[in-house]
Amino acid sequence: MNEADRMSETQVLKENLRNYGKLLEEIGGEVWELKLSPIKEKVDKDFAKYSFNYEENMMLNFGESIHEEDLENINEKLERFIDCNDDKLEIVYRVKDDNNHSKWVYSRGIKVYDKKGNLEKIIGIRSDITEKVVMKEALFKLSHFDPLTNLPNKEKLKEDFSRLRNQKNIDNLAFLFIDIDDFKHVNNVLGYGYGDEFLKKFAEFLKHEFSPDNLIGRLSADEFLVIFTNYKDIISLEGRIDKLLRDLRKKNFLLNTDFKLSASIGYSIYKINGSDFDTLLRYANTALHYSKSKGKSQFVRYSDKLGEYAFSQADMLNQIRIAIERNEFIVYFQPIVHTINEEIFGYEALVRWVHPHRGMISPGQFIPIAEASGQMVDIEKIVIEECFRRLKLLRKLNPDMKYVSINLSARGIIERNIIKFLERLILKYDVDPKFIEFEVTESSLLNNIEWTIETLDKIKEMGFKLSLDDFGTGYSSLNYLKNLPFDKVKLDKSFIDNIAYDERDHLMVKSIIELSHRLGLLVVGEGVETKSQRDLLYILECDFIQGYYYGKPQPIDI
Ligand code: C2E
Ligand code: CA
Ligand code: CA
Repeated sequence: MNEADRMSETQVLKENLRNYGKLLEEIGGEVWELKLSPIKEKVDKDFAKYSFNYEENMMLNFGESIHEEDLENINEKLERFIDCNDDKLEIVYRVKDDNNHSKWVYSRGIKVYDKKGNLEKIIGIRSDITEKVVMKEALFKLSHFDPLTNLPNKEKLKEDFSRLRNQKNIDNLAFLFIDIDDFKHVNNVLGYGYGDEFLKKFAEFLKHEFSPDNLIGRLSADEFLVIFTNYKDIISLEGRIDKLLRDLRKKNFLLNTDFKLSASIGYSIYKINGSDFDTLLRYANTALHYSKSKGKSQFVRYSDKLGEYAFSQADMLNQIRIAIERNEFIVYFQPIVHTINEEIFGYEALVRWVHPHRGMISPGQFIPIAEASGQMVDIEKIVIEECFRRLKLLRKLNPDMKYVSINLSARGIIERNIIKFLERLILKYDVDPKFIEFEVTESSLLNNIEWTIETLDKIKEMGFKLSLDDFGTGYSSLNYLKNLPFDKVKLDKSFIDNIAYDERDHLMVKSIIELSHRLGLLVVGEGVETKSQRDLLYILECDFIQGYYYGKPQPIDI
């Protein structure tokens, strides 16, 4: 190679270096080098031991020091990297500069050998990952901690519990489900600011009582869980719970007020009532509800007898009351399709109860109880208001949509003064009543018939539509059809189920449709699941179709 060639080669190298420098700067990377020197005395026949001083070497360029807590880890990783045949080094650690600013860095390195094949140094590149780490921590915090009280949430408790369970020395363990009695009064009487303040103080109190040996978390608004460990026996556990409830009654959490509250507790025992988190939580919750049904400021231990109570009327009633307070009722919408063009014509609103521990509970399970206890009025009000609120959105999603249809039950709002409620909602949500339909069943009409007819007439006068639900399952349907101001009838699923096979059902459906049309009523076929059912209804000139064939009830997004 002559002089000129060597010159140009140097220039190319310099140019390359400049480019790599720029590239590194651009991606925020920094280069480091760790020189190694073999320790002569310790050389054995296969490999040499090396000494290194990473503090000196590695950080020299950056004027930083490594966080004390990470030193050991770095040391270990480096030694392992040098001694083993790994060809890539990867470490994450924290560094601090002279001003005590710390950051997270991610370093990668490779080994460099000299001409004789001895390990000479490690060279590497590092990048600042502080932002990513902070973001990850924030995400972890958000998904594992309750922002108001800073207590772990249910997910985190579940993780911590499974870790705890794997430790051998857990003797006694109980799930204490704690619920503040009448907490909604704090919010209602003093306002949400005080409510939040109270919850924070309450959380502090629990921490003070149970940290650090036990797990504490917040499950929902005023529900807390303590996973209590290593107590001596049931007597000492119950003694502790009893003292806790007594202390609470005496405490005044809110300054400048004389507000005093109490709490109720239900508890379940690990290995006796169950071994997994969900079971223990569910049983503790059942015990809590039982405790609440007996009065305030008490505690109850779960037993199998309570399992039956969980499915009993009394518990359901209690739970419905809580669900109304906590907005656990949500509304699903099921499309009602135009038979000829198969486009969505309307939606039926169907209530769903999303119970925090039992999951989705179907209307069939709670409506009869809610009707009997008078709670149906409140549930129906929630559904009606939700439909008014969502109407604009539904119409935006589907501009051709003509109505949302809402169920009114026998013992629900129809018995109270629904008219004023509806008038208020029309103004509040600026809704044209022609977009809302109400469905009533024949059995609703049997109760208090005169009052009901009067109410339905008024509803109709206001411009709402009306339909007769579950048609064909009742008694004197034809009379109602003639005398009441209905716009539509809804043919019950039990007819539709068999129209493809059963000649009589087929005939019934045919004549109901013909008769309804003659009376100027439109017909909706309900519970249509198959194409053959749809095709038959098409031939029979049924106007609209509702059923899983076109779509299940679903929530709509905000
Ligand atoms: P419904 O008014 O007869 O409502 C139709 C029921 O049939 C709904 O059950 C719906 O999910 C179901 N369904 C619809 N298409 C199909 C299908 O193709 N196959 C099958 N197997 N089922 C289908 P859901 O939602 O469980 O409601 C049950 C009953 O609870 C309703 O019967 C209604 O009487 C009552 N209900 C539901 N929501 C409310 C509400 O907000 N207020 C009042 N008062 N009652 C409600
Ligand atoms: Ca219905
Ligand atoms: Ca129906």
